[in-house]
Amino acid sequence: MTATARLIRHDDVGVIELDNPPVNALALGLRVGLEASLEAALGDPSIVAIVLAGGGRMFCGGADLREFNTPAAAQPPFTGELRARMDRSPKPIVAAIHGSALGGGLEMALACHYRVAAPGTQLGLPEVRRGLLPGGGGTQRLPRLVGVPTALRMIVSGDTVDAAGAKAIGLVDEVAAGDVRTAAIAFARAAAARGGHHPVAATREARIDDADAFFAAERARVKAESRGLEAPLECLACVEAATRLPFDEGLAFERSRFRVLVEGTQSKALRHLFFAERAAARIPGIADDQVTRPVRTVGVIGAGTMGGGIAMSLANAGLEVLQLETTQAALDRGRATMTRNWAGTVAKGKLTQDEMDRRLARVRGTLRYEDLADADLVIEAVFEDMAVKREVFGRLDAVCRPGAILASNTSRLDIDEIARSTSRPQDVVGLHYFSPANVMRLLEVVRGAATAPDVIATAMAFGRTTAKLPVLVGNCDGFVGNRMLSAYVREAGFLLEEGASPAQIDGALQRFGLAMGPFRMGDLAGLDIGWAGRKRQAATRPKHLRYSRVADRICELGRFGQKTGAGWYRYEDGSRSPIPDPEVERIIAECAAEAGIARRSIADQEIVERTMYALANEGAKILAEGVALRASDIDLVYVNGYGFPAYRGGPMHFADTIGLKEVAERVVQFHAAHGDWWTPAPLLLERAAAGRGFNDKE
Ligand code: NAD
Repeated sequence: MTATARLIRHDDVGVIELDNPPVNALALGLRVGLEASLEAALGDPSIVAIVLAGGGRMFCGGADLREFNTPAAAQPPFTGELRARMDRSPKPIVAAIHGSALGGGLEMALACHYRVAAPGTQLGLPEVRRGLLPGGGGTQRLPRLVGVPTALRMIVSGDTVDAAGAKAIGLVDEVAAGDVRTAAIAFARAAAARGGHHPVAATREARIDDADAFFAAERARVKAESRGLEAPLECLACVEAATRLPFDEGLAFERSRFRVLVEGTQSKALRHLFFAERAAARIPGIADDQVTRPVRTVGVIGAGTMGGGIAMSLANAGLEVLQLETTQAALDRGRATMTRNWAGTVAKGKLTQDEMDRRLARVRGTLRYEDLADADLVIEAVFEDMAVKREVFGRLDAVCRPGAILASNTSRLDIDEIARSTSRPQDVVGLHYFSPANVMRLLEVVRGAATAPDVIATAMAFGRTTAKLPVLVGNCDGFVGNRMLSAYVREAGFLLEEGASPAQIDGALQRFGLAMGPFRMGDLAGLDIGWAGRKRQAATRPKHLRYSRVADRICELGRFGQKTGAGWYRYEDGSRSPIPDPEVERIIAECAAEAGIARRSIADQEIVERTMYALANEGAKILAEGVALRASDIDLVYVNGYGFPAYRGGPMHFADTIGLKEVAERVVQFHAAHGDWWTPAPLLLERAAAGRGFNDKE
């Protein structure tokens, strides 16, 4: 192990430079180097002051997440000892901060006597986003430095502040005009010359008037906002401890709460998702430096629900958008919806009117295909009908320039068949957005059989530059997300017949952490689309597979969900609150009787197992077929596109957490009880037998 921090002398000032690229993570080597440099600087009488600075592109990005739960994490020197040593230093220590100081990085800076930051530097304690709390004294030092309410907000939200904001709240002492290291050296020298006592956060007090009332109100707010997450409440408890306990006891309290979180399932799930996002960007067979095609002007075909949302998301990212429709009326309707949506954001104070006007001006409407001749990328979002898609792609093929990328936002249709309606299948790709497309982060990039590697690389890069999370998936009915959703919704429908109610199933899954249960989601999205699909498939449906008639009966009554005032629930005029409906209960009971099913009482646990293991079993088939490149990609799809709770890590990670042996046993039981929908995925059985998880490394 090499030491990755070193002492550089600048006359009478010792600069300790962190040198562990890319983010100067506080791994063992860096801790060893920092300790040695600190001792050398403190012990050298010719050094009057110390500057702590980062080499490369930032000060310090924090702890090394990869080191967590490994032996290296348990090897001294620990950062706590280093910070305590800095607290006791008679020589002034100044942090010279550029780029960012995040998490453990900011905690090191908090243990310095002074902080000088370059303009634009980002400072924050984002641990809560990984299900953790700042376990390096951050919850104890920050309230002492910037006050309790400000510290609490930063720690519980994980939000960063920039250098100017940090100066305003007292987090940094100076924003450097020129080079930050030079400024910090001058600052340190002046502080040493001034002499006297240098301020130490640890020796200050964190005070708040009427602490009981303040923390009671904050706890209620954080609890309501954190929706099942443990970490925000633990962060709050630690900040409260800073106001009630002496510094050292506060540190010990923080340490003990950190340990609980770092060993818990929530932070493991959130850290899994953090690494999953990095992994998703890598595509086997496509080099990181694959040349991509430039994307400046984008055409969008259709100005309906999805076309409108996609156009907004592109304009939000600064792209010029040309939107094509069949009639001026459809264009006008689409524009009115976009205007209303952006105006809502302006009304909330999250967007200025000027910026809204600029975004709106980036979207131009047209009725003529010829106007798309120069587009670099065209995204089709017309009706979900193969004949219409083929016609649109044929016309695009005729007008678009060679090399333009032609993409479809289809939810389920065959990308290869769409590609075949053009003379350039290598330029055709799926870009599957999720509704509302201007809000949801997920973008399934669907690779067709002929899609060229540079088209895939471009689509992935385009997704990232437009603030989406692109995940590459293969071509099959429903791709990854909707294919798994079918298994999940089907199972929820069977549970109804067996004895559960829509409200019980939605309630159980919402308590599990889903943003919305399947029946509320169905009512929101509209039940008619699924019904049309089932009618199309009726003739070819394998007769040996169980089929529930309940959803069809509901649709036969014209109940298509919220838009018709009734679906799985009923809705009062103008309200979106679902009200359980005895009529639906009657239909369920009738269908169950017709199917010869004796209804029974069903426990919430069975609801969770049946629906979640249906996802995992289908996910295992998707993985084995190569429709998803990795289990973690499936997890990303579910967390970012389907309201799956991030703190459970996604359906594949959740199955791993339960243990695949147990999951496989239940799947085999469900197969025996409910038939061949539950045919166990061979990959699930293999991994279970081998004692491995879906997400385990090879
Ligand atoms: P929508 O009915 O709201 O909008 C479709 C729009 O396409 C309409 O405005 C229509 O006028 C226009 N259109 C139809 N034929 C056209 C043509 N030949 N040329 C130009 N415009 C034409 O439908 P939507 O919900 O926006 O769905 C669009 C596509 O997105 C579908 O393929 C759908 O499966 C997919 N999708 C929908 C969702 C969703 O939640 N709604 C999510 C992901 C993907």
